[in-house]
Formats: sequence, structure tokens, C-alpha cells
Amino acid sequence: MKSYLGIDIGGSAVKFGWGNSQSGLQYFSTVHIKNKCLSEFKTIIEKVLKEVETRIGFSNIHGIGIGSPGTIDFHSGKVVGVNPNLPFWINHDPCELIPATLGLPVLCDNDANLMALAEANSHKAKHALGITVGSGIGSGIVIDGKIYRGANGFAGELGHVIVVDSGAKCNCGRLGCMEAYASVDGLRNRLSEESPHYNDMQLSQILAIKSADQLVAGHINFGQKMLCGAVAGTVIALDPELVVLGGGGMDVGLYSIADIKKDIYELLPEVNRSKVQIKQATHGNKAGVIGAIILLEQA
Ligand SMILES: [Zn+2]
Repeated sequence: MKSYLGIDIGGSAVKFGWGNSQSGLQYFSTVHIKNKCLSEFKTIIEKVLKEVETRIGFSNIHGIGIGSPGTIDFHSGKVVGVNPNLPFWINHDPCELIPATLGLPVLCDNDANLMALAEANSHKAKHALGITVGSGIGSGIVIDGKIYRGANGFAGELGHVIVVDSGAKCNCGRLGCMEAYASVDGLRNRLSEESPHYNDMQLSQILAIKSADQLVAGHINFGQKMLCGAVAGTVIALDPELVVLGGGGMDVGLYSIADIKKDIYELLPEVNRSKVQIKQATHGNKAGVIGAIILLEQA
């Protein structure tokens, strides 16, 4: 089977690897981002491409898939909307990081869409919803085995569903988004409003005091409720067979998959409850790279 290169651009690291969905990844590596700026992205991608040339050679690569944070308008190919973590990335087409002289097909998609695609593929689920709980909340929808993008590429932004009327300010600038309560940054921001001593805490420090700090426990519980409400509503709307939750927040136990399952099932009508599986993601930090490779395989 042909091999493809997957590149997953994140806020703190660029992950890449090659392989295919049948044999898995033949190679996987991570490059940390030191300075968040466009020239750093370009330099890292040049290094990645050099490493590919040295280790496997482009004659053995049949296409390149790129995962990117942010909303991607598929008409223009550009990252659109608001991204306070990577403001310089707005209005750029991630595919343009790859020189046309390579002569390879290049496709790009939102990183959470690719996570959903990778997990759906491994679980052999045709209809799936993938959620990443990290500094923000990402989500992707897979319908009939393919990423559902909507009319413009904006589908599946579950983190920005309004869950509290005139609520807390979200990174997107609007008030009351689910992300403002359920994400790692959202949790920290809500706690910081209560007391500045939470300002500089890492998630691991916040979780370490959860059992002794009612404020922390209360905000985590509220975030989980908002997350589960939004997921349950989407399950009712889309009828997926699988919901997968991953991302750094899930990996370190911000929410337990058992608690999430219980909350979501309680919110679902019986017909959905007996049909939808809710699972922890299995691909960890490789999900974006694997999804990017599958994107090329499906093209
Ligand atoms: Zn928002």
C-alpha cells in the first residue's frame, strides 16, 4: 500500500510521520515550536521535508496531509476566524507551506477533524464524533466514513456552542461558549476569576488539589456538565455510532471517561443510549498525523 506523509501543526509542536492506515506509521517524530511565528512554521516544515528526503525519499511518498489548528474555509483553503494562540496563522493556507516543486498532492484539514477521522477509521465506525479537550475544545464529525465539513468547512465547532446565556468570555470573543468552561484554559480562567492564585497553575497542579478544593471541584464538575450537554445534543442531532474523547485534558484525567459516559447517557433518549459507544481516544498525539494520512488515502 502507498505511503503518505502526515504533518500535524499544533500550538506547541509540529508532529509528523509517514505510513498508511493499513500498516500504521512507519515513522513518527515531533519538533517543538520555540517561537510562535510564521517564519518558525516555515523553518520547521523545511526541516521536516529534509528529514523525509533523507530517511525515505519523496519517491516513496504519494501525498502530504496537513492538520492545522483553527477553522479552515475550504473554498479558499485559508485559516479563518479568531485564534488568539496563533494570530499570525489567520488568512494563511497551510498547504502553501509545501513547495509545489515536490509535485505531490497536498491536502489540509482542521486537526480535530483529522483526530475524528483517525479514530473513526480505527474503530471501523462510519458515523463518529471526535472531541479533543486541550487548551481549547476541538471537535470533528465523520459521516459515512468521511469528514463532514458543512457548507464552508466550519462544521463541528462544538466548543463554540453557547451553553451559558451572557456567560464567560471565550477565546473567540463571544460569551458563554462551552470551551470557556470545559477546556483547560477555560477552567483556569474561571478559577482565576475567583482568585488570582490559580493564574499560573498548570493543569496537573489544579488536579492535584481538586479533592481538597471545593472551588476547583465545582468548576471541573460544571465544565464536564457543559461538555456532556453539548455532546449529548450533537449525538441526538447526528446519531453517530461512536463518540471519542481525547486531547491533553483527557490524557491527564481532567475528566474521566467513565464520568463522561454516565453524564452523556443520562442526557440521551433511550434509543440513542443503547446505540452510541463513548470511548477514550486511542491514538494520543499521533491522531492528527494518522488522520492526515487517511485524508490523502480517501482523496
Ligand atoms: Zn467561543
